[in-house]
Amino acid sequence: MSDHPRVEIYTKNDCPYCEKAKELFDAKGIDYELYNVSEDEELFEEMVERAEGRKTAPEVFVDDELLGGWDETSALDETGELDERLGIESESEEHRRLIVAGSGIAGLTAAIYAARSNNEPLVIEGTEPGGQLTLTTDVANYPGFPEGISGPELINNMKEQATQFGADVINGVIEAVDDSARPYEVRMKDGDVYTTDALIAASGASARTLGIPGEDEMMGYGVSTCATCDGAFFRGEEMVVVGGGDAAMEEANFLTKFAEKVYLIHRREEFRAEDYWIDRIEEQVEEGNVEILRNTEVTEIHGTPEAGVETVSLVTHPEGHPTAKLDDPETEEYDLDAGAFFIAIGHTPNTEYLDGTGVEMAAEGYLKTRGGKGGGQTKTAVPGIFGAGDVVDYHYQQAVTAAGMGCKAAIDADEFLEDEQRSASAAAEPAVAESD
Ligand code: NAP
Repeated sequence: MSDHPRVEIYTKNDCPYCEKAKELFDAKGIDYELYNVSEDEELFEEMVERAEGRKTAPEVFVDDELLGGWDETSALDETGELDERLGIESESEEHRRLIVAGSGIAGLTAAIYAARSNNEPLVIEGTEPGGQLTLTTDVANYPGFPEGISGPELINNMKEQATQFGADVINGVIEAVDDSARPYEVRMKDGDVYTTDALIAASGASARTLGIPGEDEMMGYGVSTCATCDGAFFRGEEMVVVGGGDAAMEEANFLTKFAEKVYLIHRREEFRAEDYWIDRIEEQVEEGNVEILRNTEVTEIHGTPEAGVETVSLVTHPEGHPTAKLDDPETEEYDLDAGAFFIAIGHTPNTEYLDGTGVEMAAEGYLKTRGGKGGGQTKTAVPGIFGAGDVVDYHYQQAVTAAGMGCKAAIDADEFLEDEQRSASAAAEPAVAESD
């Protein structure tokens, strides 16, 4: 019999965060009981009751006590508290030749190349194992997949490829990097410490939120940053999606499967999304499944954890950005009924762990990179620290560009490590005595 406490996980179909939760416990070697609430109304009601009214999956329990969803569980893991509750001993110190921070498409591509160059990379998965692609239902523009491929499948394939070539992938989150001496020190949130000769920062970006009243209080109770995760729980409801980029269009399109109607709310007239998505949304508008509210912003989400989201307060102005024009006579305010609320307004790069190092950052925390032969652009200001993917790229932000940068970072890191090894061997060679 296992010495560890009893772990129970409520899951549903097509739930990327459920997969992350399962992988987290798998990686720790902890057994768990799974309850799939999809198409089982009774089990769903049981989950909602045990999870204090929350309608989001996964919900994780340890010895009958609610840990929460993925966010709460991974937060406990970051601090090491989850290991304590599971009775797992932690805290270790280990040296690695190369650490890759992040396990999205940039990090995993870097790991594939680095492993093939015998740099034995350690991939630290971060707060969002698999990165943003794990939340994408259908990747239709990744070259080589004419029928499209699901984001989780693409990521799983890459992870398998990286580990086949010898990369180690561990769950965990980096707290800080100390670049004041070589090798660099990488301190984990759970207290573990690694030293490393080189680091590739490929830690991606996290979903932004609006910062409006009701948002934090209702997160998990009808407010969500992941339509693919939570959309199915609000079947038959009127749903709101906020944003004007590809993510908002993709989510609104996906939600039409479940929603009575989807309101797509964008703060200005023009969409930022590519034509492909705008065309699909316009088809949904024609079919009456989506209504677009342009030049409109949400100022408050109303509801209770028990009743869920009930209404949202909106403000609109014909020239857009209405919250900046509240005193303008053309500004109108009104409430809209909605049972679920999805935020898709872009991402902020995950680079806080590099604060205090010599790595330079631009606005919002994007890493400034430079150099490399052929316009590599993965070198940071600190020798041996490289950046790849959404931590650097504030413009292209595509799966294929992130993969390309991950590859370049691994090649640049390999050159760096080889140069360093050559210099160290040359310095260690005994000086040849001069003959007289
Ligand atoms: P994005 O392109 O940056 O779009 C963010 C949207 O949110 C913008 O329309 C922005 O409005 C709006 N926004 C930002 N802050 C806001 C606020 N405080 N209040 C209201 N609205 C706000 O982000 P994304 O859609 O997440 O896409 C990011 C990248 O991933 C893009 O390069 C995209 O191509 C890619 N992506 C691709 C796919 C796909 O092809 N399957 C799917 C998802 C994402 P403004 O337009 O006014 O700035």
